[in-house]
Amino acid sequence: MTERTVLKLLTCTSCGKPIPPGAEATKFLCPNCGEILIRRCEKCRKFGRLYKCPKCGFIGP
Ligand SMILES: [Zn+2]
Ligand SMILES: [Zn+2]
Repeated sequence: MTERTVLKLLTCTSCGKPIPPGAEATKFLCPNCGEILIRRCEKCRKFGRLYKCPKCGFIGP
């Protein structure tokens, strides 16, 4: 079995832009449903942009 390097870019939940590997992005589970992993890029964190959970629609800062 060979290990594949999958370069799957994660996207910021707030702005939808790809988060480069190693970036200062934060990730946490949705505080409402706890099932969706919310990701926010450095910029969105800095500017305090809102995010919306794609599953339950929870909107948080
Ligand atoms: Zn962002
Ligand atoms: Zn949710």
